[in-house]
Amino acid sequence: MKKLNGTVIVTYRCNARCTMCNRFRAPSLPEEEISVETIRKLPPMYFTNITGGEPFIREDLRDIVRELNRLSDRIVISTNGYFTDRIIRLCEEFPNIGIRVSIEGLEQTNNEIRGLPDGYRRGVETLKKLRAMGMKDVGFGMTVQDKNAPDLVPLYELSDELGMEFATASLHNSFYFVETQNIIHDRPMVAENFERLINRLLASGSPKKWFRAYFNHGLINYIYGQKRLLPCDMSFDTFFIDPYGDVMPCNGTRDKEVMGNLNRQTWEELWNSPEAESVRAKVRACDRQCWMIGSVSPAMRKYIWKPAWWVFQHKFLRLFRKEKYSMYELPACRALRDGTVTAAELDACSTCDLHAVARDGRS
Ligand code: SF4
Repeated sequence: MKKLNGTVIVTYRCNARCTMCNRFRAPSLPEEEISVETIRKLPPMYFTNITGGEPFIREDLRDIVRELNRLSDRIVISTNGYFTDRIIRLCEEFPNIGIRVSIEGLEQTNNEIRGLPDGYRRGVETLKKLRAMGMKDVGFGMTVQDKNAPDLVPLYELSDELGMEFATASLHNSFYFVETQNIIHDRPMVAENFERLINRLLASGSPKKWFRAYFNHGLINYIYGQKRLLPCDMSFDTFFIDPYGDVMPCNGTRDKEVMGNLNRQTWEELWNSPEAESVRAKVRACDRQCWMIGSVSPAMRKYIWKPAWWVFQHKFLRLFRKEKYSMYELPACRALRDGTVTAAELDACSTCDLHAVARDGRS
């Protein structure tokens, strides 16, 4: 069987109170959350992201990771880093996994956005302890918005000093975030901060960072409400599974789209079902244009020539001519600057809907 890319949402419970995510208002109940028996039915994967809610709230996370470790070549857990002791204990048993701690900027900004008392200090401490115990695949994850965009490069520099990964995202609306009103207001300011980050990444000697630069270039394109730079093939060789055992194409849709339920079905039944096919047809017609690592990373792998050509142009040709990357390479950035499109017109291209009722995807 072909290996897939999977995301396992082990819980919708969360101890944080992030301003851009209302998931904490619609938690799952512990007794209904996906069991180890259901997880055992998942297919072989080349990559698995374990996320929530806050995954470390689950007392049996160790059993889940043990099971997924058998099924998957690589595991990365997304966490807010608050439960330091639990994270350390898990990593002692599974030193080969990756950990991404969501940090939304420098101390004050992070704590204001995430609503976790002492969240920044605890998150950074967790990362430092993981590094000290020899964990290799650890890093920061930052969701960039108006409030924290000025902290983007300083936080990258901190991660670089500590020798850690630095993953970025921007605001999205979906049932997963129980949110419909997320939007970037000052697009040029946010894009300029991404532009600075992209130039830092391109100036590095790391091919991985050059491809990250491309991802961040795609984020600028996304916040200007434009068509994705790469096709979205979610549900073809990628899936999400939620705490209720429902298998979904992604976490970016407005309403939850269900391909089947792994509590009740086998993987083969579910993956080859008419319901799964109908979800794939919807993905083909989807106009939400998300740019989240979960849907972009498989696309960058599949359509590697496109980011590779971009990297070649920006890393080698431009550097040779001593030209820096500019956000104005993107037509939408030029259009807003030149006044041929208004901010309100770009707002209308986004998924932000001030009047919609947020769905929560609860079963
Ligand atoms: S663009 Fe892709 S990831 Fe986003 S909602 Fe549509 S199918 Fe999901």
